[in-house]
Amino acid sequence: MPILLLFIFLSCAHVVHAETAESSNAPSNAPPTASASAAPVSRATGAGNGLIDAADLPAGLDDAAQVDFYCLRRAYPQITGMTTDAQGQWLVFNDGRRVLYDAAPGAAPSTGPQESEWVVSVRTSMAEPYPLEPQRPDTPLGVSPGRRRSYDLLQALYGSTPKAVGVHLVQARLLGQHLHLSPAAAQAMNRANAHLAPQAAQEPRLKTLLKMDGGFAWRRIAGENRLSPHAFGIAFDISPGIATYWRWSKLRPHPLQQSYPPAIVEAFENEGFIWGGKWHEYDLMHFEYRPEIICKARVWQGLEPLPNNDAPKNLAQPAVSAVPVAPSGEATAPADASAAPSVSQ
Ligand SMILES: [Zn+2]
Repeated sequence: MPILLLFIFLSCAHVVHAETAESSNAPSNAPPTASASAAPVSRATGAGNGLIDAADLPAGLDDAAQVDFYCLRRAYPQITGMTTDAQGQWLVFNDGRRVLYDAAPGAAPSTGPQESEWVVSVRTSMAEPYPLEPQRPDTPLGVSPGRRRSYDLLQALYGSTPKAVGVHLVQARLLGQHLHLSPAAAQAMNRANAHLAPQAAQEPRLKTLLKMDGGFAWRRIAGENRLSPHAFGIAFDISPGIATYWRWSKLRPHPLQQSYPPAIVEAFENEGFIWGGKWHEYDLMHFEYRPEIICKARVWQGLEPLPNNDAPKNLAQPAVSAVPVAPSGEATAPADASAAPSVSQ
């Protein structure tokens, strides 16, 4: 079956959730169940070896690019350098592959999907400030830190086909429940579990909100053309019956965006996961392993120093403000009208 048709089939078959997924959505090539065994991961950012020094930061980068490159290297040790040509700035992997970090002014994207509001360059994917707990700022239209993604980077990190992603998946656990994730995300999940399990034993509400609903699933986001982060084994959903998705609710914002237990969000943020409750298009059940974004938030807040003495001068975290977006379109209008109630934004 041609890939495009397979895509359409999978999308039509799984329109219940958006970024969210259920374990039953996993493709037939079921992932192995070996325990997570990826490279060591630091607690501060959820990844990396913490041994980056000033010599690793390329010269000539602007302030944002310096922070981005530092955090990308910490998060993904296979990224080893950065290079520039007429097309723009590229991240260089240890096997020689390159991923465009930022296109040069006037340069057309040379690879990957055409840039749109949600499918963006690596630089743009890291541009919006993510508010770490206990911050829960308002999420007006345009505020969705981490919901914009570079699919070139995701495919380079995790694979571009179900088989390529699935072969690396390992089993992770949360309160005795199991799911499949990419190795670094699985290790991060297991550390969060070690932190959360004793708390959940004492607080029934936490346990109620920690019902696993699935990790890896190769499919698109409902109502959108782009792949779900679940397709890369970096996302999981918990308690969707309580923690809903914006398309299935008329509430804007949703009260749980403020009242969801900080203990859960903090435990996962500490291990490199972002929470979909901090998006305008909220996904309250959804956590996603994006250690580069957590790292950048920590740098902005002064919780993580850069390694060089010539640190960027403008490290103050930008105010959380809405990114201008169209009031309709991909973000707010489901392509499949049957997939969700209509929205009015
Ligand atoms: Zn999800």
